[in-house]
Amino acid sequence: MTIATQSPTEPGLILALSKGRIFEDTLPLLEAAGITVTENPETSRKLILATNDPLVRVLIVRATDVPTYVQYGAADFGVAGKDVLLEHGGEGLYQPVDLNIACCRMSVAVNAGFDYETAVRQGARLRVATKFVHTAREHFASKGVHVDLIKLYGSMELAPLVGLSDAIVDVVSTGGTLRANNLVEVEKIMDISSRLVVNQAALKLKRERLQPIIEAFERASRGASCINTK
Ligand code: AMP
Repeated sequence: MTIATQSPTEPGLILALSKGRIFEDTLPLLEAAGITVTENPETSRKLILATNDPLVRVLIVRATDVPTYVQYGAADFGVAGKDVLLEHGGEGLYQPVDLNIACCRMSVAVNAGFDYETAVRQGARLRVATKFVHTAREHFASKGVHVDLIKLYGSMELAPLVGLSDAIVDVVSTGGTLRANNLVEVEKIMDISSRLVVNQAALKLKRERLQPIIEAFERASRGASCINTK
């Protein structure tokens, strides 16, 4: 059977993950559910990874694509950041567990010399570069700040440095990237962590296999906390 013929009625389970931090932070949760990924996405070029359970496979996709794969049932479940889910909209997804992994915050940042507070107080129209246009629009609308949003797909930190924008909205973890580029965080929009997302049809049709995994994830993530990023 190829991945293209996978249907929600197949007994196997497909998990969508992105490489890097989410993949690494999800491994212990999978272990808690008795699932070991037997290939390393950092060294393998394969996009479908095997596990110790022949009925469970892992798709390696871009972080922003995880909700889409799960929404359309190409994956039964996945792990995605709140930042990504807010942009996607969450349609067709059941989000049963905040896994408290890949913690960071979404913030507004500007050039170190830019007086953001005064610009906002004076009602200036700000140019804001971000890949999180939905979240940024909602944030500035709720503050009554007029913005022109510029959609970027990466390296938002560059935009204020070269005059493309007055500000950026981006995810910040240690703040090291902002500091290295002489940017300062002027406003935290929200705390971010990653969530387990499950295809709603798969949850009904494969509940017997999915439910124990959801419960194991829930138990294993219960002790975790995002406190350090707040
Ligand atoms: P830092 O320098 O530790 O503040 O990390 C900031 C950079 O890493 C930004 O370019 C972010 O896009 C990226 N980043 C950090 N944490 C996360 C996360 N949990 N999810 C997605 N991207 C992140």
